[in-house]
Parts: sequence; C-alpha cells; structure tokens
Amino acid sequence: MDKQREASAAHWADETAAKIIREKGEKDLYTCASGITPSGTVHIGNFREIISVDLVARALRDMGKKVRFIYSWDDYDVFRKVPKNMPKQDELQNYLRFPITMAPDPWDRDASYARHHEVDVETMLPFVGIQPEYLYQAERYRSSRYAEGIRKALEHRDTLKSILDKFRDEDHKIQGEWWPVSVFCDKCNRDDTDIDGWDGDWGLGYHCNACGHKETVDIRKAAGVKLGWRIDWPMRWQYEQVDFEPAGKDHHSQGGSFDTARLVCKEVYGWDAPVTFRYDFIGTKGVPGKMSSSSGQVIALADVLRVYTPELTRYLFAGTRPNTEFTISFDLDVIKIYEDYDRLERIAWKAEPAKNDDAYRRARRIYELSQVGAVPAVMPYQIPFRHLCNLIQIADGNIDQAIAGISPAPAPEQIPGLKARAACAKYWVEESAPEEFRFCLRGEGERAPLSDSETAAIRDLRDKVIAGIEQYRDDKSCAEAIYKVAEDHGMDGKVLFRAAYQALIGKDQGPRLANFLRSIKQERLLAILRAY
Ligand SMILES: [Zn+2]
Repeated sequence: MDKQREASAAHWADETAAKIIREKGEKDLYTCASGITPSGTVHIGNFREIISVDLVARALRDMGKKVRFIYSWDDYDVFRKVPKNMPKQDELQNYLRFPITMAPDPWDRDASYARHHEVDVETMLPFVGIQPEYLYQAERYRSSRYAEGIRKALEHRDTLKSILDKFRDEDHKIQGEWWPVSVFCDKCNRDDTDIDGWDGDWGLGYHCNACGHKETVDIRKAAGVKLGWRIDWPMRWQYEQVDFEPAGKDHHSQGGSFDTARLVCKEVYGWDAPVTFRYDFIGTKGVPGKMSSSSGQVIALADVLRVYTPELTRYLFAGTRPNTEFTISFDLDVIKIYEDYDRLERIAWKAEPAKNDDAYRRARRIYELSQVGAVPAVMPYQIPFRHLCNLIQIADGNIDQAIAGISPAPAPEQIPGLKARAACAKYWVEESAPEEFRFCLRGEGERAPLSDSETAAIRDLRDKVIAGIEQYRDDKSCAEAIYKVAEDHGMDGKVLFRAAYQALIGKDQGPRLANFLRSIKQERLLAILRAY
C-alpha cells in the first residue's frame, strides 16, 4: 500500500527516469537529447522541450546515474522562409534555400543567422540552471562526420522508402525516384538540386537546377550532402546512442516523424528508439505591448525571465505534466502564480503543514526541481509579490530603497534572491500590470480636489492615525483606527478610502489602505498630507 502511494506521489521526471532505466537497462552513461532548427526566434514553447530533458536528466542524476545531455542545433537545415519578426527581410530573402548557417545575421551581431538564434538561447539557459552540450549539425555534416550513416541510408534506400510509405495512404505514397539524401550545391549553396545517381560506394552525383552545376562528390569529403529529416533524426539517435528524447505533438502524431524514425532507427541503424514522451503546446496571456512589438508576438525565455524569476520559471514547467497544455500569464495571474510558488516553498521547508505526507513529498520534489542549483541552505525571504510591487512603487521604482525598509530584515544570503524577485516585480508593475494596479505617490504638499468634509476627515486621518502609526502592531488594528475616523465624521468608510487614495495617489482606488499606510515612511505621509 505504502509503495503504491509512493509511486502515485512520484514526480513525472522521476517516473520517466525510472522508465529509461527499466527499458534501456543499467548503463554507465545515459544520453538525453533535445534539439531544434534555429530558423527563427526560439520561443517559450520550444523551451518546454529543453527543460523537460533537463528535469529528466536531473532525475536520472538523483538516482546516481551519469548523464550526457546533448542539445542539437539543426543549423544545416534549409532556410525555407523569412519569419515576419526579422529585420532586413529583403536581404534575407536572397538566402532562401541556403543552409540557415549561411544566411547572414540581420542584426550583424553574430557569425550567421542561425548563430544569432543559438547565441540568444545559449546565453539565457545558464540563468535557469541548464547547461547542455551543444552539437552543431552544420559543422558535423560539413566535416563528413556522418558519411557512414549517409551510406547506410543509400544502401537501404528501398527499406526506407517502404517505411515512409507505410503510414501513407495510396494517394500519398512516394512517386517516382526517391533518395534519402539532399545536396547543397557546391557552387551556389542552394538545395535546389537533384540526385543523378549513386555508384554503390562513396560517389554521389547531382546537378543544380539553380545554377546548372553538376558533379559527382565523394560522400567522405563532401560538405553539402545531408540526410532528409526523417532519416537524419534516427541516424543521429544511433550515432549519439540516445536513450531519451521527448518531442512535440507535431512529431508524435500517428505516423508522424517519431513513428517512422522508430522503425528507421531499428531496421536500418540497428538501434532501439529512445524512450520518449509527447509534450504539449504553451500559450501566453496578457503579453505586454513592449514585448510583442520587439519580437513580433514571439515570446522567448528571455521575455518570461523579465516577469518570473528563474525558480518561478522552472516551477511553471516542473509543476505541470508535459502532456498538459498551459498558459504563461503576464497579467494579474502573475500574482497568484507567485503566491502558489511561495506556498509550495513553505510546505517544502515545513514552514506550513502539508495536507499529508504525499502532498509534502510532491511539493518538496517540485520545489527541488524548480531550483536553479541545489536547494538553498536558508529558506528564501518570502515577501508577497503584490506587496513587493507596492513597495517598489512607493520607492518610485528604486529596488534597493524598496527592500531597505522591510521587516524583519532579510539575512545577507537572502538578499540576492529578494533583489531578483524585486527586479521582476518592477518590470511587471511598470510594463505588464493592469492599469488599476499602478500608482505614483503625490508630491509633498500637493492637494487633491476634495470636499470640505473629506478634507476634514483626511486631516484627522493624518493627525489621529498617521501621526501615531507606529503604535499599530498589525494592519487590522490600523484599519480599525481608519474606520473610527470615518465614523467620527459620519462618513461611509468607502468615502474616506476614496478621499485617502485621491490624496495619496490621485486615484479612486489603491492597495489595501492600512497596509499601504504602514508601508510608507511616516514623515513622507505627513509631508504629502501637509496641506490639508
Ligand atoms: Zn547551384
């Protein structure tokens, strides 16, 4: 019974790790793989695959296994279309049908178009604790590293053709001559080429439809010969001895590339396909205008990290099963997600009781997997995200000032985490939060247009509540004193609140008043309300 309960409480990454060991047997090294074509901005949906592999790799390591985590940049793929969010559209059009590694970087920052997108990812992943070994397929193909695998595909041309046809209906079966390889023309670099023949050994003939070039190349030396995707993928599983690789639902459809790759891998390359699972898409919600205009609605990891700390970002994925679709929010939900994480953290640290032991273990595991490195030695300083947003606005956006006054004071080792959270809060409240969430304190001595009775009540709020604000030990006792002022003036509480927000921030609504007043320095409050 206990064992069963334990199993049901297991994290999906641990379940997958156990499955890999079960299916692949005990090994000295387990290879976990992921990869993508850097044909445009690598978006947060693509990141789901990377972090899924990272989580499973961690789970394997936690079981005492050695793991190699490889990330393949498929940068020898063809440049098929220019994404809308790229600058220099016209210039890039000239490189269609080139390998993407030969298109120039339209921002002139990196060596190529592909390299630019690779660098964007490679610089961000360490922030969330992910450090795979990168494999660059352009470099590998050009150095003829896969010559044996290419030859094997040519030898098994008929088998490959029948595997690909297996999942196609009569109308869609391969017609005419078919080759498992394609060639980038040595003269004009385009893949607008046709294969003329293979000599049964290392010689492959082709001609180019774009420039008329024609030659026979030696596969062991040629830079431009490449396997088609459905052959390339399983060839590399065998080449790298891959034990685990997840894939998106586009590849995991019935008869999709994973199904054919599994057969190709076994029948042609003699290797069992890796353990896999299907991960689902990710949506986004409430994306701030600034983000979408800069990247054409493509949300990348870097964008998510502006609003969510690295731990929160990992938590979004570690806390959700991969085959579940979910939405990353940039709107008011951000507050709730931070609250959920804080609760998880308290349970994981036993600062709040869990419903039962299973719930504790589950929370603890998700929490561990959400950390960038090891779980910190001291529980992080908890400050509700909503409150932090208020403190930052009270401090006119100055993070150091916002966290300088908090009590109890954080321990030195808690400060970096607190500052990281504050930076996210600042970005969110300034760029992404709904308008009603934003405020700016009035200047000293400014006056709001209030009625005489409201003015009198604000005066009392200043002299009877704020003047002695340090005596209230909590928000509740302070709130009672505020209501007392309203009562003394025969005023509805709501009317006083509205007047107070008008006097302080020039709006009809604002953060919960008692807490708000207690968060602002007394002398500053008195100065703002001086003129009443
Ligand atoms: Zn050519």
